[in-house]
Amino acid sequence: MTIYNFSAGPAVLPKEVLQQAQAELPDWHGSGMSVMEMSHRGKEYMGIQAQAEADLRELIGVPANYKVLFLQGGASQQFAMIPLNLLRGKLSADYVNTGEWSKKAIGEAKKFSYVNVVANNADKNCTYVPAFDTWKLDKEAAYVHYTPNETIGGVEFNWVPKTGSVPLVADMSSNILSRPVDVSKFGLIYAGAQKNIGPAGLTLVIVRDDLVGHAPSGLPAMLDYKTHAENDSMYNTPPTYGIYMAGLVFQWLKKNGGIAAMERTNIAKANLLYAAIDASNGFYHCPVNKADRSRMNVPFTLKDAPSTGSGLDGEFLKLADARGLLQLKGHRSVGGMRASIYNAMPLAGVQALVNFMNEFSRNHG
Ligand SMILES: *Cc1c(COP(=O)(O)O)cnc(C)c1O
Repeated sequence: MTIYNFSAGPAVLPKEVLQQAQAELPDWHGSGMSVMEMSHRGKEYMGIQAQAEADLRELIGVPANYKVLFLQGGASQQFAMIPLNLLRGKLSADYVNTGEWSKKAIGEAKKFSYVNVVANNADKNCTYVPAFDTWKLDKEAAYVHYTPNETIGGVEFNWVPKTGSVPLVADMSSNILSRPVDVSKFGLIYAGAQKNIGPAGLTLVIVRDDLVGHAPSGLPAMLDYKTHAENDSMYNTPPTYGIYMAGLVFQWLKKNGGIAAMERTNIAKANLLYAAIDASNGFYHCPVNKADRSRMNVPFTLKDAPSTGSGLDGEFLKLADARGLLQLKGHRSVGGMRASIYNAMPLAGVQALVNFMNEFSRNHG
């Protein structure tokens, strides 16, 4: 049976990447060592990290005046590092609230800064992207932070806010590498690796040079972007195996047509799944505004069984599991189902899910 893993994160990785990692596990390229066993300052490992950075730069077109940092601490640590490093003596930062992850970022920023929430979708249960002309931006803000893809709510921006000279900061944890991005429009992009890059434990930060080096004195070295930028992410031991795996994913992306090809497949996958939900006569329901539906995370609920009044969720999950369709349970805060269909989920996996959903609704509708 073919297994398809719809986990929101840590999430599916390309089969070819896992097989390559398996083949190289005990002896990387004749070095006699596993990548896990290598000194991070040895020439073999330094080559792996340099190649991963070069491939990432090529894939998404990172301009020369941006640093690529391989950090730890997850996207959650960036929620604090961003205000700590980017306030630059200013008094407040602008944040857009579009759901659970925005809220976490806002909560952490409030410990260090006055936070101006410039737009908020809580009035409709976080199911849409607030139109740009309603945002109350502050020209004096240190930066504008937003979450281009809300992993839990399934709300995704299909446009990039224009914030003029105020640096734009984006939490791309769950949609980085899924669609082309013009990096030059951003001051800082960050992403935990475990959704669309590689294994958990690595955090990617892409930051414009001029935003580095403004941390207040007394900030711990590990929390200062400058520390990592000046040391090519080798101030301390980087998450070497995670970076190696991310590098294999970058090479897989390049071999498969790069980000533009990935986007075409991602659109096809998302269209297929949303079409099945919308054609189910209300058996399945996705609460997100159609124009703002995520291509990566598709939350949906099931109609309750009319005869019993009890939910069908358990039955759906049990039968899906038996078909090899795994980890479809929705986030505990919203319930229902969530199908995460990141880059490594093939179209055939979404087709298998849709076939199952159609059959299930026929049998239980
Ligand atoms: C998963 C996720 C996070 C949290 O990432 P950690 O690496 O667990 O800290 C933050 N933001 C978004 C959008 C996410 O999807």
